[in-house]
Amino acid sequence: MSKKLYFWEKRKAVLINKHDKERVIVPIIEENTGLQITVERSYDTDLFGTFTKEIRRKASQLDTAYLKARKGMELTGLDIGIASEGIFGSHPVVPFIPWNYEIVLLIDTKNDIEIVGESGTTSTNYDYITTDDYKELEVFAEKILFPTHFIVLRPDDEESNSITKGINSWESLREAFELGIKKSKQGKVFVEADTRAFANPTRMENIGKATYDLIKKMKSYCPKCRTPGFSVVNSKMGLPCECCGNPTKEILLRVSTCRKCAYTEENMVEEKRASAGRCLFCNP
Ligand SMILES: [Zn+2]
Ligand SMILES: [Zn+2]
Repeated sequence: MSKKLYFWEKRKAVLINKHDKERVIVPIIEENTGLQITVERSYDTDLFGTFTKEIRRKASQLDTAYLKARKGMELTGLDIGIASEGIFGSHPVVPFIPWNYEIVLLIDTKNDIEIVGESGTTSTNYDYITTDDYKELEVFAEKILFPTHFIVLRPDDEESNSITKGINSWESLREAFELGIKKSKQGKVFVEADTRAFANPTRMENIGKATYDLIKKMKSYCPKCRTPGFSVVNSKMGLPCECCGNPTKEILLRVSTCRKCAYTEENMVEEKRASAGRCLFCNP
């Protein structure tokens, strides 16, 4: 093992979890850092909010991950807590493009640090449909990669409490559809991609990416105080134009800051010049 791992090796951590996310998170962290992870399943993390809408999410994504990690530590008495939390919505910059943003949070109370691994992607199958037509439902199901990706179905609309989750075969989809139509007041069903991690391999992959980002930060130590989690927190624009040399809106340097001692380092990007196409003077 590399010298850099002394901070984490053989320490014990808890991951609080209900939906099988440990299948991807635990091996990545254990193999890459030497942490030993206990999975805590006795607490129903759905109480913190769930994707399938029975319990509306109250806190923000990071707050929810924080509460979960703390709960795991409280239940086990361990001083490192890990929790993962994801959201589905539309892309932060480009509206109407589906977006999945996953975080994996690590809290270490012994050293008073928090590190957040993150991964945002447009690669998600999330979508929904309201329909009374089984043929249309079949087309929708193919599109969202059913049956490797599960489906959730309700009569009428997304507000209905009569919910069928974890539909993962064509027979059970047909059955759920017919039952949903029968229960429905308006003769239609609301169907959406199941976004729980175990029901959605595409999401699981993104949770893996967020975990690797966490590892990268866990192995990045502050040059001054040697605390892990030293990572880029900001960037500055102004890379000079290749033609006229004026500053452009391309990234010039990235700023890394230690959350413990506030030591800050600025690193220039590798590119020396921005393309004239990105220049407000050459290409207004
Ligand atoms: Zn220019
Ligand atoms: Zn520091």
